[in-house]
Amino acid sequence: MDKAFSTRAVHAGRHDFISKGVHAPPIDFSSTYPTPDLEVAARSFDSMVSGDSPEGNSFVYQRLFNPTTDRFERALAELEGAEDAAAFASGMAAFSAVLLASKSRGTHIVAVRPIYGTADHLLTSGLLGMSVTWTTQDAIAAAIRPDTALVVIETPANPTLELVDIAAVVRQAGSVPVIVDSTFATPVLQQPIAHGAAMVLHSATKFLGGHGDVLAGVVAGAHSFIRDVKHVRAATGGLLHPLASFMLHRGLPTLALRVERSQDSATELAVRLADDRRVASVLYPGLPGHDPRGLLGHQMLGPGSILSFELGSDDPAVMRAFLGALEIITPAVSLGSTDSLIQPPAALTHRVVEESAREAVGISRGLLRMSVGLEDVRDLWRDLDHALAEVASRLEMRPRAAALTGR
Ligand SMILES: *Cc1c(COP(=O)(O)O)cnc(C)c1O
Repeated sequence: MDKAFSTRAVHAGRHDFISKGVHAPPIDFSSTYPTPDLEVAARSFDSMVSGDSPEGNSFVYQRLFNPTTDRFERALAELEGAEDAAAFASGMAAFSAVLLASKSRGTHIVAVRPIYGTADHLLTSGLLGMSVTWTTQDAIAAAIRPDTALVVIETPANPTLELVDIAAVVRQAGSVPVIVDSTFATPVLQQPIAHGAAMVLHSATKFLGGHGDVLAGVVAGAHSFIRDVKHVRAATGGLLHPLASFMLHRGLPTLALRVERSQDSATELAVRLADDRRVASVLYPGLPGHDPRGLLGHQMLGPGSILSFELGSDDPAVMRAFLGALEIITPAVSLGSTDSLIQPPAALTHRVVEESAREAVGISRGLLRMSVGLEDVRDLWRDLDHALAEVASRLEMRPRAAALTGR
């Protein structure tokens, strides 16, 4: 039977519950495991160190394998339509392991800006001994070299919410695998593997965790890729802690509810902001003209619950006054939590990206990125409206409806 996403999200990773006689996933905190049969343990060790499964119940040591984390990985892989997944102590740990695992194919990366600021920094700095060519989604083919190991894209892009056409990028990449950071979309709205991506990456800290209390990352894809990633993880560390895995697994059944509810609110707030003359511009895929490639409803089921906007002033003092006047929306980095968060990317999440690179892709000093949470949308709008009123005398008024057209 072909089950709907929400049904699979409720049951993923729980198939053995009846036979185990449990109704919630057991948590296994063991850092080490008994090895009564040395031969089995040795074979299991060899298997796990190279990124494969343990033999029977011989898990040997937590860095190599943890049943609670494995259970969450299987659940997430199922929701992404992937063969396998590997969970890490953060999104950046997952991305680093993917990059290190790809080095057997080459040390050159092709990537499309903008992406998450620290991911940009990791690639630009050459910290892992790899070089990067930044390009646009239409010029991937020209940037590919014989030593290109990976193409990196993020859609919707952080923080401009630009949508990248995954299938078109995959076609241009040819035999080079493409990884999609799908953190903003979640598997509720977008499943990159179905569009030809080799791997999908999530900062599980965001929507998957969903409650602002877990730091985690996960990468899903074909066995052949995830095996290499797990090989790196077994050698370098970074396995997700079993309690964090339990919490992420616990959140999956409500993921669709949370994403859809906050998306409805984000859609309404984007329209209101776009219609407000105190706001200079709004970036949100759901606004008319903001999805030039027609990816909504096809690659991505809905516009998501993150939006960005600029006030009618780029004076930092005005931005500080605006943020200070908010009562419900918390000024903070991160996103995808139950509560709404707002932050200026140029000053915080993307401060590690060179200013010229930021400006080139539309991350202005005045840009604010808002993650819409589960509060009542009327309260959220009242909060924004009140804070805008506080600074209104210092804002330049925009001609009506000018922000409704795309960049
Ligand atoms: C937060 C974030 C990351 C990094 O994840 P951490 O869990 O903070 O390490 C990567 N990509 C995107 C899109 C993010 O929002």
